[in-house]
Amino acid sequence: MHHRHGERAAQILEAQRRCQAAGESLTPLRQRVLELLLDAHGPAKAYDLLPLLDHDKGQAKPPTIYRALDFLVRLGLAHRIESLNAFVACDVGACARSTIFLICEKCGAVEEFDAGHALVDLSEAARRDGFAIRRTMIEAQGLCSACQ
Ligand SMILES: [Zn+2]
Ligand SMILES: [Zn+2]
Repeated sequence: MHHRHGERAAQILEAQRRCQAAGESLTPLRQRVLELLLDAHGPAKAYDLLPLLDHDKGQAKPPTIYRALDFLVRLGLAHRIESLNAFVACDVGACARSTIFLICEKCGAVEEFDAGHALVDLSEAARRDGFAIRRTMIEAQGLCSACQ
């Protein structure tokens, strides 16, 4: 499902490039939080990440990690899964595009699913209704193929 291993260095480089393009900087803390999300085997809550940062820095505090997570989400490098109150690294490096998450209720696996046309159809239906969608975030709950 995911193919992140071995791509981490490339993803960090891409993240640095994205930050630079946005006139921002990937500070060591922001980079570390992104690395923790890339290493996580599923969605991670801020409080799961906190002890890992503590181990590194001694003094990471919740506001610090929330600020770093907000930053990563704002740049599209990570996504917040509302229904789980958790975060995942973007599966494609960074996306400002609309995203669908498939969330397995049994094993907790989350797949960032590119549903292309489903979202185009949604945009067009909304446009006919006079609404211009800028961004869509859909979270679908169910069972992954391994858990069915
Ligand atoms: Zn993404
Ligand atoms: Zn599953």
